[in-house]
Amino acid sequence: METSGVPIVRDPWTESGTTTVSGAYRPVGTGMACRSDFVAVLDGMVSVTNWRSRNIGHVCQIGDPILRYNAEELNPEDIKKSEIKKILKKMHDVMRSYESVGLAAPQIGVPLRIFMIEFSEKMSEKFSPDIQKSREMAIIPLKVFINPKLTVVNYEKVLFPEACESVRGFSADVARYREVLVTGFLVPGLDPEGRPISWQTSGWPARVVQHEMDHLSGRLYTDIMVRSTFACTCWEKVNRTGGRIYVPFSPK
Ligand SMILES: [Zn+2]
Repeated sequence: METSGVPIVRDPWTESGTTTVSGAYRPVGTGMACRSDFVAVLDGMVSVTNWRSRNIGHVCQIGDPILRYNAEELNPEDIKKSEIKKILKKMHDVMRSYESVGLAAPQIGVPLRIFMIEFSEKMSEKFSPDIQKSREMAIIPLKVFINPKLTVVNYEKVLFPEACESVRGFSADVARYREVLVTGFLVPGLDPEGRPISWQTSGWPARVVQHEMDHLSGRLYTDIMVRSTFACTCWEKVNRTGGRIYVPFSPK
C-alpha cells in the first residue's frame, strides 16, 4: 500500500499498526538485461521495503537483495526511538554471537545507515603476535556509527585477507586505504544518546571501517577482492573429512 509516494509498512516491534518510511530505496548496479532480471529486481525491492517483517536474529548471506541496496539515512531525531534501540541491541547481540569485528545494519536485514565495530583483547588472541603486528591490529572498544561519512586520509593501499559474515565460509585478499576519517553520530555503548563524532584511524580498524561502510552502499568485499585469492576457509578440513563437514549459517 502506498500513500503520497511514501511506502507504509507494518511495524511488528511497536505493535502500533503502521510506520511510514521516508525516501526511496535505491538498488545498486541493477543493469537489467532481460525480463527475469526485472522480476528479480522487483522481488528485491519488495524484500527490502518489507524489511520490518523480517526475522533479524541472523546474518543475511550474499545474494540477498538487501545487501545490494544503498541504505537509508536516519533522521537524527529518530536515534532515541525504541525501534532504533532494539535494532542496536539486536545488532550487538548478533555481532557478539558471531564473534564478528564489525556489523552493518543491512547484514541483519535492516536497510539503515548504521554500523558497529568492536575488537576485544579476547578476539585479538585468535591471531598470532606476528599477524597482529603486520596487520596493524588494535583493540577497539565498541563504537556505533549512525549516518557515517568516510574520508580517505592516506591513499596508500594495503593488501590483506578479509572475510565477511555475509559471505560465510570464505575469505580473500582485499586492498584497503591505510588511513581514514569517519564522521557521523556516535552512540556511546548502546545508549541511544547520539552525538556527532569524527574518528581518524589507520591499519586494521581503518580496514574494518571501510568494509562496513561498503555494506551501507550495497557493496561486498567480493566486488573488489583479488579474485585468485578467494578461498574456502575450511578447505583443509574438507579434505581431512572427505567432505563431510557442516558449515552453519548461525553460531547458535
Ligand atoms: Zn561484511
